[in-house]
Amino acid sequence: MTRRNHDIAELKRLDVAHHLPAQSSYKLQRDIGGSRIIVHAEGSTIFDGDGNAILDGMAGLWCVDVGYGRAELAEVAREQMLELPFYNTFFRTATPPPIELAAKLAGLLGGDLQHIFFNSSGSESNDTVFRLVRTYWGIKGEPERKVFISRRNAYHGSTVAGASLGGMSYMHVQGDLPIPGVEHVMQPYVFGDGFDEDPADFCARAVQDIEDRILAVGPEKVAAFIGEPVQGAGGVIIPPDGYWKGVEAVCRKYGILLVSDEVICGFGRLGEWFGFQHFGITPDIVSMAKGLSSGYMPISATAVSSDIVETLRSVDDDFVHGYTYSGHPVAAAVALRNIEIIEREKLVDRVRDDIGPYFAKALAKLSDHPLVGEARSLGFIGAIEIVARKGTNRRFGGKEGLAGPIVRDACIGRGLMVRAVRDSLVMCPPYVMTHEEIDRMVSIIAAALDETSETLRALDMPVLEGAGEGL
Ligand SMILES: *Cc1c(COP(=O)(O)O)cnc(C)c1O
Repeated sequence: MTRRNHDIAELKRLDVAHHLPAQSSYKLQRDIGGSRIIVHAEGSTIFDGDGNAILDGMAGLWCVDVGYGRAELAEVAREQMLELPFYNTFFRTATPPPIELAAKLAGLLGGDLQHIFFNSSGSESNDTVFRLVRTYWGIKGEPERKVFISRRNAYHGSTVAGASLGGMSYMHVQGDLPIPGVEHVMQPYVFGDGFDEDPADFCARAVQDIEDRILAVGPEKVAAFIGEPVQGAGGVIIPPDGYWKGVEAVCRKYGILLVSDEVICGFGRLGEWFGFQHFGITPDIVSMAKGLSSGYMPISATAVSSDIVETLRSVDDDFVHGYTYSGHPVAAAVALRNIEIIEREKLVDRVRDDIGPYFAKALAKLSDHPLVGEARSLGFIGAIEIVARKGTNRRFGGKEGLAGPIVRDACIGRGLMVRAVRDSLVMCPPYVMTHEEIDRMVSIIAAALDETSETLRALDMPVLEGAGEGL
Protein backbone atom coordinates (compact mmCIF):
# COMPACT_ATOMS: atom_id res chain seq x y z
CA MET A 1 0.00 0.00 0.00
CA THR A 2 1.34 3.42 -0.88
CA ARG A 3 1.00 5.95 1.87
CA ARG A 4 0.06 9.52 1.21
CA ASN A 5 2.46 12.31 1.96
CA HIS A 6 0.93 14.90 4.24
CA ASP A 7 1.88 18.52 4.71
CA ILE A 8 1.95 18.33 8.49
CA ALA A 9 2.61 22.02 9.14
CA GLU A 10 -0.38 22.91 6.98
CA LEU A 11 -2.56 20.28 8.67
CA LYS A 12 -1.68 21.69 12.08
CA ARG A 13 -2.54 25.17 10.88
CA LEU A 14 -5.90 23.96 9.53
CA ASP A 15 -6.50 22.01 12.74
CA VAL A 16 -6.36 25.24 14.74
CA ALA A 17 -8.19 27.24 12.09
CA HIS A 18 -11.13 24.87 11.56
CA HIS A 19 -11.15 21.70 13.63
CA LEU A 20 -12.50 21.22 17.15
CA PRO A 21 -11.16 17.90 18.49
CA ALA A 22 -13.10 15.83 21.06
CA GLN A 23 -12.81 16.30 24.83
CA SER A 24 -10.15 18.97 24.37
CA SER A 25 -9.10 22.39 25.55
CA TYR A 26 -9.35 24.59 22.48
CA LYS A 27 -7.06 27.09 24.12
CA LEU A 28 -4.37 24.46 24.56
CA GLN A 29 -4.93 23.19 21.00
CA ARG A 30 -4.24 26.70 19.75
CA ASP A 31 -1.36 27.41 22.13
CA ILE A 32 0.58 24.28 21.14
CA GLY A 33 0.04 25.05 17.46
CA GLY A 34 -2.37 22.25 16.64
CA SER A 35 -2.89 18.60 17.51
CA ARG A 36 -0.35 15.84 17.07
CA ILE A 37 -1.24 14.36 13.70
CA ILE A 38 -1.24 10.56 13.63
CA VAL A 39 -0.74 9.45 10.04
CA HIS A 40 -0.19 5.72 10.08
CA ALA A 41 -0.15 2.69 12.34
CA GLU A 42 0.89 -0.93 12.24
CA GLY A 43 0.47 -3.63 14.88
CA SER A 44 0.80 -1.85 18.22
CA THR A 45 2.68 1.19 16.93
CA ILE A 46 1.34 4.54 15.78
CA PHE A 47 3.35 7.00 13.70
CA ASP A 48 2.91 10.77 13.85
CA GLY A 49 3.56 13.32 11.15
CA ASP A 50 6.75 14.49 12.83
CA GLY A 51 8.28 11.07 12.26
CA ASN A 52 7.85 9.66 15.77
CA ALA A 53 7.04 5.98 16.24
CA ILE A 54 4.94 5.64 19.39
CA LEU A 55 4.03 2.39 21.09
CA ASP A 56 0.28 2.51 21.62
CA GLY A 57 -0.38 1.57 25.23
CA MET A 58 -4.02 2.62 24.81
CA ALA A 59 -5.15 0.66 21.72
CA GLY A 60 -6.24 3.95 20.18
CA LEU A 61 -8.90 4.77 22.74
CA TRP A 62 -9.40 1.42 24.49
CA CYS A 63 -10.58 -0.06 21.20
CA VAL A 64 -8.04 -1.29 18.62
CA ASP A 65 -7.94 -4.75 20.18
CA VAL A 66 -6.74 -6.66 17.09
CA GLY A 67 -4.07 -4.03 16.39
CA TYR A 68 -3.54 -1.77 13.40
CA GLY A 69 -3.03 -2.67 9.76
CA ARG A 70 -5.58 -5.47 9.34
CA ALA A 71 -6.03 -5.55 5.58
CA GLU A 72 -8.88 -8.05 5.73
CA LEU A 73 -11.03 -5.55 7.65
CA ALA A 74 -10.46 -3.03 4.87
CA GLU A 75 -11.29 -5.67 2.27
CA VAL A 76 -14.52 -6.73 3.91
CA ALA A 77 -15.57 -3.06 4.15
CA ARG A 78 -14.77 -2.55 0.48
CA GLU A 79 -16.75 -5.61 -0.60
CA GLN A 80 -19.76 -4.61 1.48
CA MET A 81 -19.65 -1.02 0.21
CA LEU A 82 -19.69 -2.20 -3.37
CA GLU A 83 -22.45 -4.74 -2.75
CA LEU A 84 -24.64 -2.57 -0.52
CA PRO A 85 -23.17 0.50 1.21
CA PHE A 86 -26.29 1.33 3.17
CA TYR A 87 -29.81 0.41 3.86
CA ASN A 88 -31.77 1.16 7.02
CA THR A 89 -33.55 -1.06 9.51
CA PHE A 90 -36.51 1.27 10.08
CA PHE A 91 -39.18 0.06 7.69
CA ARG A 92 -39.42 -3.69 8.32
CA THR A 93 -36.20 -3.99 6.41
CA ALA A 94 -32.76 -5.22 7.35
CA THR A 95 -29.56 -6.18 5.59
CA PRO A 96 -27.51 -9.35 5.98
CA PRO A 97 -24.54 -8.13 8.08
CA PRO A 98 -26.39 -6.87 11.20
CA ILE A 99 -28.53 -10.02 11.31
CA GLU A 100 -25.44 -12.22 11.07
CA LEU A 101 -23.62 -10.10 13.64
CA ALA A 102 -26.59 -10.23 16.04
CA ALA A 103 -26.65 -14.02 15.80
CA LYS A 104 -22.89 -14.16 16.37
CA LEU A 105 -23.08 -11.89 19.42
CA ALA A 106 -25.99 -13.89 20.84
CA GLY A 107 -23.78 -16.98 20.71
CA LEU A 108 -20.90 -15.26 22.48
CA LEU A 109 -23.13 -13.68 25.13
CA GLY A 110 -25.00 -16.91 25.80
CA GLY A 111 -27.89 -17.47 28.18
CA ASP A 112 -30.81 -15.16 27.83
CA LEU A 113 -29.06 -12.34 25.98
CA GLN A 114 -30.26 -13.32 22.54
CA HIS A 115 -31.39 -10.05 20.97
CA ILE A 116 -29.28 -7.14 19.82
CA PHE A 117 -30.05 -3.51 19.01
CA PHE A 118 -27.36 -1.70 17.00
CA ASN A 119 -26.08 1.87 17.28
CA SER A 120 -22.90 3.64 16.23
CA SER A 121 -21.18 4.47 19.54
CA GLY A 122 -21.00 3.49 23.17
CA SER A 123 -22.81 6.67 24.14
CA GLU A 124 -25.63 5.90 21.74
CA SER A 125 -25.87 2.39 23.14
CA ASN A 126 -26.37 3.80 26.62
CA ASP A 127 -28.96 6.25 25.30
CA THR A 128 -30.74 3.20 23.92
CA VAL A 129 -30.48 1.60 27.36
CA PHE A 130 -31.97 4.71 28.95
CA ARG A 131 -35.04 4.81 26.73
CA LEU A 132 -35.45 1.06 26.46
CA VAL A 133 -35.39 0.46 30.22
CA ARG A 134 -38.02 3.13 30.90
CA THR A 135 -40.15 1.86 28.02
CA TYR A 136 -39.86 -1.66 29.40
CA TRP A 137 -41.05 -0.67 32.86
CA GLY A 138 -43.89 1.35 31.33
CA ILE A 139 -45.16 -1.70 29.44
CA LYS A 140 -44.72 -3.81 32.57
CA GLY A 141 -47.16 -1.51 34.36
CA GLU A 142 -44.52 0.02 36.62
CA PRO A 143 -44.02 3.40 34.91
CA GLU A 144 -42.75 4.95 38.16
CA ARG A 145 -39.56 2.88 37.84
CA LYS A 146 -37.44 5.55 36.21
CA VAL A 147 -34.31 5.94 38.32
CA PHE A 148 -30.91 4.69 37.20
CA ILE A 149 -28.21 4.00 39.74
CA SER A 150 -24.62 4.44 38.61
CA ARG A 151 -21.26 4.99 40.29
CA ARG A 152 -19.09 8.04 40.75
CA ASN A 153 -16.29 8.07 38.18
CA ALA A 154 -18.24 5.77 35.91
CA TYR A 155 -17.93 6.47 32.20
CA HIS A 156 -20.95 5.78 30.05
CA GLY A 157 -20.38 8.25 27.23
CA SER A 158 -20.76 11.87 26.30
CA THR A 159 -24.33 12.25 25.02
CA VAL A 160 -26.87 13.74 27.42
CA ALA A 161 -27.94 10.34 28.74
CA GLY A 162 -24.42 8.90 28.57
CA ALA A 163 -22.81 11.73 30.50
CA SER A 164 -25.69 11.75 32.99
CA LEU A 165 -25.36 8.03 33.63
CA GLY A 166 -21.61 8.58 33.92
CA GLY A 167 -20.24 9.76 37.21
CA MET A 168 -17.73 12.37 36.03
CA SER A 169 -18.50 15.54 37.95
CA TYR A 170 -16.33 17.62 35.60
CA MET A 171 -18.62 16.54 32.77
CA HIS A 172 -21.78 17.25 34.74
CA VAL A 173 -20.89 20.92 35.22
CA GLN A 174 -21.14 21.45 31.46
CA GLY A 175 -24.73 21.37 30.28
CA ASP A 176 -26.52 21.06 33.61
CA LEU A 177 -26.16 17.33 34.02
CA PRO A 178 -27.11 14.82 35.18
CA ILE A 179 -30.67 14.92 33.90
CA PRO A 180 -33.25 13.94 36.54
CA GLY A 181 -33.51 10.29 37.45
CA VAL A 182 -29.85 9.36 37.82
CA GLU A 183 -28.33 8.62 41.23
CA HIS A 184 -24.60 8.16 41.78
CA VAL A 185 -23.22 5.91 44.49
CA MET A 186 -19.76 4.85 45.72
CA GLN A 187 -17.24 3.43 43.29
CA PRO A 188 -15.37 0.25 44.30
CA TYR A 189 -12.02 2.04 44.22
CA VAL A 190 -9.97 0.29 46.87
CA PHE A 191 -6.77 2.33 46.47
CA GLY A 192 -8.56 5.69 46.40
CA ASP A 193 -11.49 5.25 48.76
CA GLY A 194 -10.72 2.20 50.87
CA PHE A 195 -6.99 2.50 51.35
CA ASP A 196 -6.72 1.62 55.03
CA GLU A 197 -9.74 -0.62 55.02
CA ASP A 198 -10.01 -4.38 54.95
CA PRO A 199 -10.93 -5.13 51.30
CA ALA A 200 -13.85 -7.34 52.33
CA ASP A 201 -15.24 -4.59 54.57
CA PHE A 202 -14.75 -2.03 51.81
CA CYS A 203 -16.51 -4.30 49.33
CA ALA A 204 -19.46 -4.77 51.69
CA ARG A 205 -19.63 -1.00 52.22
CA ALA A 206 -19.66 -0.33 48.43
CA VAL A 207 -22.47 -2.84 47.88
CA GLN A 208 -24.37 -1.52 50.90
CA ASP A 209 -24.18 1.98 49.48
CA ILE A 210 -26.16 0.76 46.47
CA GLU A 211 -28.80 -0.87 48.64
CA ASP A 212 -29.03 2.21 50.86
CA ARG A 213 -29.61 4.40 47.83
CA ILE A 214 -32.27 2.05 46.47
CA LEU A 215 -34.06 2.24 49.81
CA ALA A 216 -33.68 6.03 49.96
CA VAL A 217 -35.10 6.47 46.45
CA GLY A 218 -37.75 3.80 47.02
CA PRO A 219 -37.22 0.40 45.40
CA GLU A 220 -40.44 0.77 43.39
CA LYS A 221 -38.89 3.78 41.65
CA VAL A 222 -35.55 2.24 40.67
CA ALA A 223 -35.35 1.02 37.08
CA ALA A 224 -31.79 -0.21 36.63
CA PHE A 225 -28.23 -0.30 37.90
CA ILE A 226 -25.52 0.36 35.30
CA GLY A 227 -21.82 -0.30 35.70
CA GLU A 228 -18.62 -1.15 33.86
CA PRO A 229 -17.19 -4.51 35.03
CA VAL A 230 -13.87 -2.65 35.38
CA GLN A 231 -14.19 1.14 35.24
CA GLY A 232 -11.97 2.21 32.36
CA ALA A 233 -11.93 5.96 31.83
CA GLY A 234 -12.43 6.43 35.58
CA GLY A 235 -8.90 5.08 36.09
CA VAL A 236 -8.99 1.30 35.57
CA ILE A 237 -10.82 0.64 38.80
CA ILE A 238 -10.86 -3.09 39.42
CA PRO A 239 -13.51 -3.97 42.00
CA PRO A 240 -12.62 -6.10 45.02
CA ASP A 241 -13.55 -9.81 45.08
CA GLY A 242 -17.23 -10.39 45.56
CA TYR A 243 -18.33 -6.91 44.54
CA TRP A 244 -20.21 -7.85 41.35
CA LYS A 245 -21.88 -10.87 42.96
CA GLY A 246 -23.01 -8.52 45.70
CA VAL A 247 -24.33 -5.94 43.22
CA GLU A 248 -26.20 -8.64 41.33
CA ALA A 249 -27.80 -9.92 44.54
CA VAL A 250 -28.99 -6.41 45.47
CA CYS A 251 -30.47 -5.89 42.00
CA ARG A 252 -32.30 -9.22 42.16
CA LYS A 253 -33.56 -8.51 45.67
CA TYR A 254 -35.38 -5.39 44.48
CA GLY A 255 -36.23 -6.55 40.96
CA ILE A 256 -33.93 -3.98 39.37
CA LEU A 257 -32.45 -4.47 35.91
CA LEU A 258 -28.68 -4.98 35.81
CA VAL A 259 -26.85 -3.29 32.93
CA SER A 260 -23.25 -4.23 32.17
CA ASP A 261 -21.46 -1.54 30.17
CA GLU A 262 -18.92 -3.70 28.35
CA VAL A 263 -17.76 -1.00 25.94
CA ILE A 264 -14.16 -1.55 27.13
CA CYS A 265 -14.34 -4.92 28.88
CA GLY A 266 -16.12 -6.77 26.08
CA PHE A 267 -14.37 -8.88 23.44
CA GLY A 268 -11.65 -10.33 25.61
CA ARG A 269 -10.16 -7.43 27.52
CA LEU A 270 -10.47 -9.24 30.87
CA GLY A 271 -9.59 -12.66 29.45
CA GLU A 272 -13.18 -13.74 28.80
CA TRP A 273 -15.42 -12.63 25.95
CA PHE A 274 -17.26 -10.36 28.35
CA GLY A 275 -16.47 -8.87 31.73
CA PHE A 276 -19.71 -10.18 33.25
CA GLN A 277 -18.53 -13.70 32.39
CA HIS A 278 -15.27 -13.07 34.25
CA PHE A 279 -17.18 -11.90 37.32
CA GLY A 280 -19.77 -14.68 37.03
CA ILE A 281 -22.88 -12.53 36.89
CA THR A 282 -25.89 -12.42 34.58
CA PRO A 283 -26.87 -8.95 33.40
CA ASP A 284 -30.22 -8.14 31.76
CA ILE A 285 -28.66 -5.71 29.29
CA VAL A 286 -25.14 -5.41 27.85
CA SER A 287 -23.68 -2.37 26.07
CA MET A 288 -20.82 -3.01 23.63
CA ALA A 289 -18.80 -0.78 21.30
CA LYS A 290 -15.04 -0.09 20.93
CA GLY A 291 -13.60 -3.64 20.67
CA LEU A 292 -16.72 -4.80 18.78
CA SER A 293 -15.06 -3.53 15.60
CA SER A 294 -11.60 -2.88 17.11
CA GLY A 295 -12.34 0.74 16.22
CA TYR A 296 -12.16 0.06 12.48
CA MET A 297 -15.75 1.27 12.08
CA PRO A 298 -18.09 3.12 14.44
CA ILE A 299 -20.57 0.56 15.72
CA SER A 300 -22.12 -0.39 19.05
CA ALA A 301 -24.57 -2.98 20.23
CA THR A 302 -27.09 -3.24 23.04
CA ALA A 303 -27.95 -6.82 24.01
CA VAL A 304 -31.17 -7.42 25.91
CA SER A 305 -32.70 -10.36 27.75
CA SER A 306 -35.58 -12.45 26.47
CA ASP A 307 -37.84 -11.04 29.19
CA ILE A 308 -37.27 -7.54 27.80
CA VAL A 309 -37.94 -8.68 24.23
CA GLU A 310 -41.09 -10.56 25.26
CA THR A 311 -42.31 -7.48 27.10
CA LEU A 312 -41.74 -5.28 24.04
CA ARG A 313 -43.51 -7.93 21.94
CA SER A 314 -46.53 -7.92 24.26
CA VAL A 315 -47.73 -4.61 22.76
CA ASP A 316 -48.44 -3.42 19.22
CA ASP A 317 -46.50 -0.16 19.62
CA ASP A 318 -43.25 0.51 17.83
CA PHE A 319 -40.20 1.04 19.99
CA VAL A 320 -39.79 4.53 18.58
CA HIS A 321 -36.04 4.68 18.95
CA GLY A 322 -33.19 4.09 16.55
CA TYR A 323 -30.61 5.78 14.44
CA THR A 324 -30.14 6.13 10.69
CA TYR A 325 -27.02 4.02 11.10
CA SER A 326 -28.49 1.38 13.43
CA GLY A 327 -27.24 -1.86 11.93
CA HIS A 328 -25.07 -0.15 9.34
CA PRO A 329 -24.13 -2.95 6.92
CA VAL A 330 -20.49 -1.91 6.42
CA ALA A 331 -19.83 -1.42 10.14
CA ALA A 332 -21.56 -4.72 10.95
CA ALA A 333 -19.59 -6.61 8.29
CA VAL A 334 -16.34 -5.23 9.71
CA ALA A 335 -17.37 -6.09 13.28
CA LEU A 336 -18.21 -9.64 12.23
CA ARG A 337 -14.80 -10.09 10.62
CA ASN A 338 -13.11 -8.51 13.63
CA ILE A 339 -14.74 -11.14 15.86
CA GLU A 340 -13.59 -13.83 13.42
CA ILE A 341 -10.02 -12.55 13.81
CA ILE A 342 -10.28 -12.65 17.61
CA GLU A 343 -11.54 -16.23 17.38
CA ARG A 344 -9.11 -17.42 14.70
CA GLU A 345 -6.07 -16.00 16.51
CA LYS A 346 -7.42 -17.10 19.92
CA LEU A 347 -6.86 -13.59 21.25
CA VAL A 348 -9.16 -14.04 24.24
CA ASP A 349 -7.07 -17.01 25.36
CA ARG A 350 -3.93 -15.01 24.63
CA VAL A 351 -5.11 -12.26 26.99
CA ARG A 352 -6.04 -14.73 29.72
CA ASP A 353 -3.10 -17.14 29.50
CA ASP A 354 -0.23 -15.24 27.94
CA ILE A 355 -0.04 -11.46 27.69
CA GLY A 356 -2.37 -10.84 30.65
CA PRO A 357 -0.14 -12.69 33.14
CA TYR A 358 3.00 -11.37 31.41
CA PHE A 359 1.69 -7.81 31.70
CA ALA A 360 0.85 -8.34 35.38
CA LYS A 361 4.41 -9.54 36.06
CA ALA A 362 5.94 -6.65 34.15
CA LEU A 363 3.78 -4.16 36.06
CA ALA A 364 4.70 -5.77 39.36
CA LYS A 365 8.29 -4.63 38.75
CA LEU A 366 6.99 -1.06 38.64
CA SER A 367 5.37 -1.39 42.03
CA ASP A 368 8.85 -1.29 43.59
CA HIS A 369 9.40 2.19 42.19
CA PRO A 370 9.45 4.84 44.95
CA LEU A 371 6.73 6.89 43.19
CA VAL A 372 4.35 3.99 42.61
CA GLY A 373 1.70 3.34 45.23
CA GLU A 374 0.07 0.47 43.42
CA ALA A 375 0.31 -1.39 40.12
CA ARG A 376 -2.84 -3.30 39.23
CA SER A 377 -4.22 -5.13 36.24
CA LEU A 378 -6.85 -7.61 35.17
CA GLY A 379 -6.48 -9.32 31.81
CA PHE A 380 -4.86 -6.77 29.53
CA ILE A 381 -5.91 -3.53 31.21
CA GLY A 382 -4.01 -1.93 34.04
CA ALA A 383 -2.88 1.14 35.91
CA ILE A 384 -0.22 2.45 38.21
CA GLU A 385 -0.91 4.93 40.99
CA ILE A 386 1.59 7.76 41.35
CA VAL A 387 2.03 8.77 44.98
CA ALA A 388 4.06 11.34 46.87
CA ARG A 389 5.01 8.91 49.60
CA LYS A 390 5.49 5.18 49.25
CA GLY A 391 3.10 3.17 51.39
CA THR A 392 0.41 5.86 51.31
CA ASN A 393 -2.07 7.12 48.75
CA ARG A 394 -1.00 10.73 49.28
CA ARG A 395 -0.76 12.73 46.05
CA PHE A 396 1.91 15.16 44.90
CA GLY A 397 1.09 18.75 45.74
CA GLY A 398 -1.61 17.48 48.10
CA LYS A 399 -4.00 17.49 45.19
CA GLU A 400 -5.22 14.83 42.75
CA GLY A 401 -4.25 15.15 39.13
CA LEU A 402 -1.06 17.21 39.24
CA ALA A 403 1.45 14.39 38.81
CA GLY A 404 -0.40 12.20 36.29
CA PRO A 405 -0.17 14.49 33.24
CA ILE A 406 3.52 15.23 33.93
CA VAL A 407 4.45 11.54 33.88
CA ARG A 408 2.15 10.89 30.92
CA ASP A 409 3.85 13.59 28.84
CA ALA A 410 7.25 12.15 29.72
CA CYS A 411 6.04 8.73 28.53
CA ILE A 412 4.80 10.15 25.24
CA GLY A 413 8.11 11.97 24.83
CA ARG A 414 9.87 8.62 25.22
CA GLY A 415 7.65 6.91 22.64
CA LEU A 416 4.78 5.43 24.64
CA MET A 417 1.15 6.54 24.36
CA VAL A 418 -0.58 6.24 27.72
CA ARG A 419 -3.31 8.22 29.43
CA ALA A 420 -3.35 9.85 32.83
CA VAL A 421 -6.57 9.68 34.83
CA ARG A 422 -5.90 11.95 37.77
CA ASP A 423 -2.69 10.37 39.13
CA SER A 424 -3.24 6.96 37.61
CA LEU A 425 -1.35 6.06 34.48
CA VAL A 426 -3.68 3.75 32.59
CA MET A 427 -2.88 1.12 29.97
CA CYS A 428 -5.11 -0.82 27.61
CA PRO A 429 -2.88 -2.12 24.78
CA PRO A 430 -3.81 -4.07 21.64
CA TYR A 431 -4.03 -7.84 22.19
CA VAL A 432 -1.29 -8.35 19.61
CA MET A 433 1.33 -6.52 21.68
CA THR A 434 4.47 -8.65 22.03
CA HIS A 435 6.32 -9.50 25.23
CA GLU A 436 9.17 -7.30 24.07
CA GLU A 437 6.77 -4.40 23.57
CA ILE A 438 5.26 -4.92 27.03
CA ASP A 439 8.79 -4.82 28.49
CA ARG A 440 9.46 -1.63 26.55
CA MET A 441 6.21 -0.08 27.78
CA VAL A 442 7.11 -0.77 31.39
CA SER A 443 10.70 0.42 31.07
CA ILE A 444 9.54 3.66 29.43
CA ILE A 445 7.17 4.25 32.35
CA ALA A 446 9.98 3.58 34.85
CA ALA A 447 12.27 5.99 32.99
CA ALA A 448 9.52 8.62 32.81
CA LEU A 449 8.97 8.33 36.56
CA ASP A 450 12.72 8.74 37.19
CA GLU A 451 12.91 11.66 34.79
CA THR A 452 10.01 13.53 36.39
CA SER A 453 10.64 12.70 40.03
CA GLU A 454 12.41 16.00 40.77
CA THR A 455 9.61 17.99 39.13
CA LEU A 456 7.08 16.00 41.12
CA ARG A 457 8.94 16.45 44.41
CA ALA A 458 8.99 20.19 43.72
CA LEU A 459 5.17 20.13 43.68
CA ASP A 460 5.34 19.03 47.28
CA MET A 461 7.72 21.70 48.54
CA PRO A 462 5.16 24.37 49.48
CA VAL A 463 3.11 21.77 51.29
CA LEU A 464 6.06 20.57 53.33
CA GLU A 465 7.25 24.08 54.16
CA GLY A 466 3.79 25.34 54.99
CA ALA A 467 1.05 23.41 56.71
CA GLY A 468 3.00 20.16 56.57
CA GLU A 469 1.14 16.88 56.15
CA GLY A 470 -2.53 16.29 55.83
CA LEU A 471 -3.47 18.14 52.67
C1 LIG B 1 -15.93 4.82 25.63
C2 LIG B 1 -17.04 4.36 26.50
C3 LIG B 1 -18.36 4.74 26.26
C4 LIG B 1 -18.72 5.71 25.19
O1 LIG B 1 -18.46 5.23 23.92
P1 LIG B 1 -18.37 6.27 22.69
O2 LIG B 1 -18.20 5.37 21.52
O3 LIG B 1 -17.23 7.17 22.96
O4 LIG B 1 -19.65 7.00 22.66
C5 LIG B 1 -19.35 4.20 27.05
N1 LIG B 1 -19.05 3.35 28.04
C6 LIG B 1 -17.80 2.98 28.31
C7 LIG B 1 -17.55 1.99 29.41
C8 LIG B 1 -16.75 3.49 27.57
O5 LIG B 1 -15.49 3.16 27.87
